[in-house]
Amino acid sequence: MKLPKIREIIEAIKALLKGPYTSKFPKVTHTPHPNFRGKPKFDKEKCVGCLACEEVCPAGAIAHKDKTDEPAPKRTIVHYSDTCIFCGQCQAACIADHEGIRLSNEWELSFFDRKLEGQENIDKELQLCEICGLPVACKDHLRWISDKIGELTYSSPTLYLSRLKTLGIIDENIISALEDRGRSDRVKILCARCRRKTTLTTK
Ligand code: SF4
Ligand code: SF4
Repeated sequence: MKLPKIREIIEAIKALLKGPYTSKFPKVTHTPHPNFRGKPKFDKEKCVGCLACEEVCPAGAIAHKDKTDEPAPKRTIVHYSDTCIFCGQCQAACIADHEGIRLSNEWELSFFDRKLEGQENIDKELQLCEICGLPVACKDHLRWISDKIGELTYSSPTLYLSRLKTLGIIDENIISALEDRGRSDRVKILCARCRRKTTLTTK
């Protein structure tokens, strides 16, 4: 008969004294280490809807959809926890001080309904171009840029008009009736393509 080694006997005695290493899940919930890299979660208040997280995600676990034909246009950003590899790249790239999306220590990800429990959505208000109607950026993102560049905001009609709308100084729904693709169109909230056309093209 092969006798156990001394090291194995010591380990067995230690285990007897310390108790089991595993928890009695699901009766007793496991508490992970504080640094455990679990499911990322959005913070709706801090996220500005820039999509940097979607851009860097190596697993394609973040996607977005813009709804521009609704009275209140919005961008829906979705995180799919069944595709996520919990690498933390989204948090590292987040422009909102790495707080728009953060890894949590949530580890239990088994679910019955993928659509209901396997994804997290957040909605952000979209700013549309006043000429073509395509998205310029999320309103919070324009505000974030304006906060970052301070008085330079006044060098961009898109930024300062968005700012004035935020402050309630001009009407949220005011849109110029003129469409001359010239001087009057320059003082509008525009996407980059229409800004270029109004600046470089005249009738
Ligand atoms: S943790 Fe990694 S895989 Fe998961 S959403 Fe963030 S970037 Fe994508
Ligand atoms: S602010 Fe952060 S969480 Fe929100 S879209 Fe940008 S990178 Fe993603």
